[in-house]
Amino acid sequence: MIKMDLVSTLIVLLGFCAATYSQDQPIWSKTLKKMHWYGQAGWRIEKDSLNIYIDPLQIPDQAPAADVIFVTHSHSDHLSIRDIKALAGDHTLLVGPESCREKLLETGLKTIQWVNPGDTLVIRDIPVEVVPAYNIKKNQFHPKENRWVGYILNINGVKIYHSGDTERIPEMQTFHCDIALLPLGQTYTMHNIEEAVQAALDINPKIAVPMHYGMYEGKAEDADRFKKLLEGKIEVIIQAKE
Ligand SMILES: [Zn+2]
Repeated sequence: MIKMDLVSTLIVLLGFCAATYSQDQPIWSKTLKKMHWYGQAGWRIEKDSLNIYIDPLQIPDQAPAADVIFVTHSHSDHLSIRDIKALAGDHTLLVGPESCREKLLETGLKTIQWVNPGDTLVIRDIPVEVVPAYNIKKNQFHPKENRWVGYILNINGVKIYHSGDTERIPEMQTFHCDIALLPLGQTYTMHNIEEAVQAALDINPKIAVPMHYGMYEGKAEDADRFKKLLEGKIEVIIQAKE
């Protein structure tokens, strides 16, 4: 009897500890575990039973089918027709800039939601803000007039900003998000790591996650430098590529 009581007490205590532990974990740390980086700007985010992809590129064969695919612009490392076709099924919704209409239609997907910078909408129960993405210095790569985009997705209360290809732009000071996925480029996107750091400070997310390095531009060390420069200011999580 005494033995049983001890066991019960232990079980109750363990349960209490687990509950306290999970309460102490910030809400976004759970979300980060459901975010998968495939390199460049390609992500999969799990939301309940949905698989949401953003700019899928070189996605492994075993990756689950897409419920929603967000595309930021028409460059082939972001709008990969091959990857979109491989991930899509009858139920897949494609979301992309109206200015990329022709290229997005090449995917053959029947359901496409066209968006423009400044739009707010709800897609499969996900509140979405469509934000501008453009270059100021290297204007030839991502001109503002192309109306290409980034997205702020509200995933069960956690706001994730996917920048698309962009330099630091003034609009960033108005963005509100918990997790910011930012390009470290230097050839096509951010001018240098310092600019990416300044962009992160403008946005001021809880967590900044570097992307768009290690494939066509930028090196792994750039992510380390980004993290070091933001030390004590913004937590930087360097995601491993899947
Ligand atoms: Zn681009």
